Amino acid sequence: MKPVCPFVKVARPDEASSKKSTDKHAVEEADGKPTVSPKCPFASSKQSTDKYGVEEADGKPTVSPKCPFGYDSQTFKLGPLSCLICQALLFDTSRCVPCSHVFCKVCISRFNDCPLCGADIDKIESDKNLQDVVDRFIEGHARIKRSQVDSDKEGEVRENKMVIYEDVSFERGSFLLQQAMRAFRAQNFESAKSRLSLCAEDIRGEIETTGSTSELCSQLGAVLGMLGDCCRAMGDAGSAVIYFEESVEFLGKLPRDDMEITHTLSVSLNKIGDLKYYDGQLEAARDYYVRSLNIRRDVMKRLPTVPSQILDVAVSLAKVADADKVVGNEDTALDRFHEAIQLLESLTLKAEETSLEQRRLSVLDFLKSQIEEKEKQNTAA
Ligand SMILES: [Zn+2]
Ligand SMILES: [Zn+2]
Repeated sequence: MKPVCPFVKVARPDEASSKKSTDKHAVEEADGKPTVSPKCPFASSKQSTDKYGVEEADGKPTVSPKCPFGYDSQTFKLGPLSCLICQALLFDTSRCVPCSHVFCKVCISRFNDCPLCGADIDKIESDKNLQDVVDRFIEGHARIKRSQVDSDKEGEVRENKMVIYEDVSFERGSFLLQQAMRAFRAQNFESAKSRLSLCAEDIRGEIETTGSTSELCSQLGAVLGMLGDCCRAMGDAGSAVIYFEESVEFLGKLPRDDMEITHTLSVSLNKIGDLKYYDGQLEAARDYYVRSLNIRRDVMKRLPTVPSQILDVAVSLAKVADADKVVGNEDTALDRFHEAIQLLESLTLKAEETSLEQRRLSVLDFLKSQIEEKEKQNTAA
C-alpha cells in the first residue's frame, strides 16, 4: 500500500524537532538542532512581484480561477496577507507604531526594531480590520467547499459532488497545513494551532459525510499529532495528551502495513509516554512506551532489513528500559538495553545514510552509558 495521506510529503514537526535538553530522553532527541534560527527574516523570502504567471509557464492548462487576493494553490503566495517573519498568514495581526508595518503579534513581539524598515517600535497596536480580511480569506476558501455541498440536492448528483468536495478540501487542507508548518517553525504556536484546528475540523466534517476512510483517518491522525506538538510546545501538557490520544485512536484504526502510519502512531504513543514520564507517572509512561515498542517490533518483523525500522525499535527499547529502570525493574531494563545494543551493532548503514548513522551512534552511546552506570553501581555495592 502506498502512503495514502496527501500530507506525507510535508515534514511533520515530529519528535526530532521539539527538543528538551533533559538527557533522560537523549535517545529520541538525538539530532538537536534548534528549529528556528534567528537569522534575518529577509534571507529566505523570495519576493515576487509577479503574482501569477510564472509558475504556469510549463504548458499545463491553468484551470483554476485566480483569487483576487493572489492565492495560488501551487505556491501559496500570499504577500499582502502574510507575515514576513513567520512567512505564514497573519495571525493576531499587529501594526508597528510609528512605521505601520504589520506582523503577527507573537512574531513582532520578539523584535525591538521593525524587521522590514528598521524603525524603532514605540508600541504595537492590533489591527482588527486586516485580521478580518485574513480570516475572511480563509473562510472564503472554505465557502467554496460548503456551498458546493449545500447546493447539491441529495441523490443523483452525489458522485459528482464527492469529487468536487474532496478536491477542494484537499487543496484547503494542504494549504492550511502548510501555513501551520511555517508558523510552527517560526515558533508561532498559536497561529499553527489555529490553522491545524481548522484543518482537523474540515477532515472531521468529511468523515461525517463520507465515512471514515483510511485516507481521512490517517490525515486526521497526523493533524491531531501536530496539534499535540503545538500544545506541548506551548506548555499545555494536558491538551497535548488529549490530542496525541486522539491521534492514536484514529491511526490505530488503520491497517499496519504502511510505514508512515505505523511510525506516526508509535511516535504519538512515545510522546504521550514522555509527557507522562515528565509528569512523574512512570508506570503509565512505561505502558505507552511498551505499546509503541510492540508496534515497532511488528513492523520490524515484516521489514527486517529496513534500517530506520531497526533504529526505531532500538529507540523504543531504550525508552522502555529507561522507564523499567526508574520503576525498579533493573534486570528487565538491562536485558532491553543489551538487546538494543545488539540491534544497533549489527546494523550496517550505507555511506550516504549519514543522518541515520549519527542517530545510530548517539543512541548507542546512550545505551552504553546506561550499562556502564549499572556496572559501576554493582562494583560499588
Ligand atoms: Zn508571523
Ligand atoms: Zn517598519
